[in-house]
Parts: sequence; C-alpha cells; structure tokens
Amino acid sequence: MTNSIYAITMAALFTTIGFKSPEMEKPSTWNKNQVIAHRGAWKKKGLPENSIASLNEAIKLGCYGSEFDVHMTSDSVLVVNHDPDFLGLPIATSTYAQLLEKKLSNGEHIPTLEAYLKAGKKQKKTKLILELKPAKVSGERDLQMTRKAVAMVQQLGATAWVDYISFSYAIGEEVLALQPGAKVAYLNGDASLERLKASGFYGADYHFSVYKTGDWFTKSKALGLTLNAWTVNNAEEMNWLLDQDIEFITTNEPERLFELLKTRK
Ligand code: MG
Repeated sequence: MTNSIYAITMAALFTTIGFKSPEMEKPSTWNKNQVIAHRGAWKKKGLPENSIASLNEAIKLGCYGSEFDVHMTSDSVLVVNHDPDFLGLPIATSTYAQLLEKKLSNGEHIPTLEAYLKAGKKQKKTKLILELKPAKVSGERDLQMTRKAVAMVQQLGATAWVDYISFSYAIGEEVLALQPGAKVAYLNGDASLERLKASGFYGADYHFSVYKTGDWFTKSKALGLTLNAWTVNNAEEMNWLLDQDIEFITTNEPERLFELLKTRK
C-alpha cells in the first residue's frame, strides 16, 4: 500500500469510528491580546455580571479571556456569582433550588458552572478564566468544590478552554495536583514569583498596585511566569501596564482597553 492510499484509508477509518486525537481537540485559535473581561463584559451594555450574556459579550468583543467566579451551594451544585450571596441568599447555605427562586436582571437564573462551560465551549477564541472562591466555611469544603470543578471541566472536555485563578493558595495547589500542567494563577498578592514558580503556578494575578514596587516584570519573564493585573479600568493604568509588557489586564472596561490597544499599534 502506498503512503497516500494508507493515509486516505486511515483517515476514512478514523472518520467512521469518530476518532479524534487529543491534539485535534485542542483549539489553537485563542485571541491574542491582553484583554480579560472581569466577570464577563457587562458594564457598557448594562448586563448582569457573571451572566451567560456577559460571557457571550466578552466573546463577541474578542477578549483573550472572560473571568467568572465559582461557588458551591449547600447541595454541592457549582454556580457562577461574584459575592458569597446571590441576591440576598447565602450560596453556601442555600440549595440550588432555593437560588432558582431569584433571577438576574436580564431574566437569567444563576448560571451553573456546567452551563457556563457549555456556553464557553461553543467557541474557540476566548478563554474561560475560572475563579474558585474560598467560602470561609472550611478549607476542606473549598477543596471539595475544587475537586468538583476540575472534574466537571475534564468531563465536559473543557480543559483547553479553562485557566484557573484563586485567592486561596491551597485551592491553586489542589488544582495543580488534580491536573498537572493546568494554568493556575494566584490572586492574593502575597506570594513571591519564586514561590509561585516552585509550586507550579502559571503566573501572578495581583492587584495592579502590587506591581508598582519591585521588579515583577523582568523577574516574571526570567522565570517564565505570566503577570495579570486586576481590576484596571482607567487608560493611564492600562498604558503603564502595557508599557511594562504585561501579559494580561483584567478590566471592567474591555472596550476601553481594546480602543487603547488600537492607538498603541
Ligand atoms: Mg473574580
């Protein structure tokens, strides 16, 4: 059999049995820019933060990533919301059914992580920046939530879409233990880049003021880590960070950051 006939035969066979290599499933089409929409892109269009609508708007804008926050209900459903309370209901001590009694301003129910990941997976350009929120109930509960979240990402085949972030170092380490090679950044501003590197983190994702002192930008590049800054909403700070060649900027104003990036070209 010649090589070409062999290739055609194998391609036909794989098509017939639905074979896909892991590489074929990994999109390499991610937007190449610094823009991460904080809780989705909600502000300009008056959408609720952390709604599927705000995720879709971030995708429409062409952001590198759309950030969102994950909590766990009392009956262990993972949901997307910023605060520990959803419209007055404490998530950690409410059931998912109780949360469904309230709606976001655009008519959406509180999104489940499953629904969020499925919505994000419909495209291959904007990454899903998944923040795991410690619940201040117990460290063990936080780790349970982490295990459930990573398992769900894997079950849905969404690992290539998801970068993880957390204010909890223990949560970040748990993600890395569950999924070696996962892209995990730490939010709390109190760990050195050397420590993050040694723990296997992808980078630091700190309040922008942290980067004003010290040699974060040269050191991160030397260590092969990324830097992300939150939450940067004005042009002056955006420009300063871009001047330092930062990898990512997390903002409530993704449209403003895109405009500014255009003027800098
Ligand atoms: Mg967040």
